[in-house]
Amino acid sequence: METIELIQKIKKRKKELGERLVILTHHYQRKDIVDLGDFCGDSFALSAKAAKDKNAQYIVFCGVHFMAESAAILAKSNQIVQIPDSDAGCWMADMADSVMLDKAWKEITKVVSQSKIIPIVYMNSDAHIKAHCGRNNGVICTSSNAPESFEWAFDRGEKIFFFPDEHLGRNTGNTLGIPKNEMIVWDPAKPFGGNSQDSIIKAKVILWKGYCLVHTRFTTEQVEQMKKMYPDAKIVVHPECTEDVVSVSDAVGSTSFIVNYVNDAPAGSTIIIGTEINLVKRLGAEHRDKTIMPLKNSLCPNMFKINLENLLYTLENIGVANVIGIRNSIKEDSKLALNRMLTL
Ligand code: SF4
Repeated sequence: METIELIQKIKKRKKELGERLVILTHHYQRKDIVDLGDFCGDSFALSAKAAKDKNAQYIVFCGVHFMAESAAILAKSNQIVQIPDSDAGCWMADMADSVMLDKAWKEITKVVSQSKIIPIVYMNSDAHIKAHCGRNNGVICTSSNAPESFEWAFDRGEKIFFFPDEHLGRNTGNTLGIPKNEMIVWDPAKPFGGNSQDSIIKAKVILWKGYCLVHTRFTTEQVEQMKKMYPDAKIVVHPECTEDVVSVSDAVGSTSFIVNYVNDAPAGSTIIIGTEINLVKRLGAEHRDKTIMPLKNSLCPNMFKINLENLLYTLENIGVANVIGIRNSIKEDSKLALNRMLTL
């Protein structure tokens, strides 16, 4: 089917479903999909939207699987959440599973009293991991509210166990002025994460050794080269980038922060962005009066799995195709941690 025909069919199906349907799209989706959605945002904004929505019977989530899961956890019991391609996973989320986490938690709590350690899980994780966090008095965070979640945790305990993104955790710790020698890395492949018991006792923040392949492709060399070529440009990067890249950039923040940064920049500005390429391209198209460039073309193939064909298929099989199902006990425990996040 031609693109035009697919778009027409999707619009027709949307019209038929009316208020019973809401299509949520993540900022990293291709433009065709964002244009057909009802609401575009980062994972925090989309979860908040899913939690507030009262009318829609069907929530079609154009993003990756963990995001659709979060929407399903927060949705009401009469709402059905679907994802156009259930294989749209996330490399980072796959770097921590419940077996690895249970082992790590047992090892850490052998050394440190459980009451002193607060788990914080990044939104980019599966529901079992979020449930662990809910059961153990922890909170979920996104790149929009990671500093607030750290402050929340330090009001309740002495240490943070942060997973699965080492870089977001370290950049957040740096923002809050936590000394570098008080942040240690937990390598799940090694006993005690590769740490001595003494270093676990002394650490303020324990960072799971996980990363995003899209954001760790950016390097300090690319930043230096762009600064030479465009001396007046501002360089803005996402906090999933390494701390080295963050340290040589002009600003760091979540996808929503980046969107607002571009919106607020005066006409004629040049902004070079270190995040997923579809967002950078869209910002360039929406701000013709500014020069918007990627630090490097870095595409998330998982986000790119959502396309017009599978969106149409989902709408034609509403309530049936690729429905996100989560066990009730997992749902309840992860909801605790997600709701704590929404109140931050
Ligand atoms: Fe996962 Fe990175 Fe893709 Fe986000 S950009 S979905 S963290 S792989």
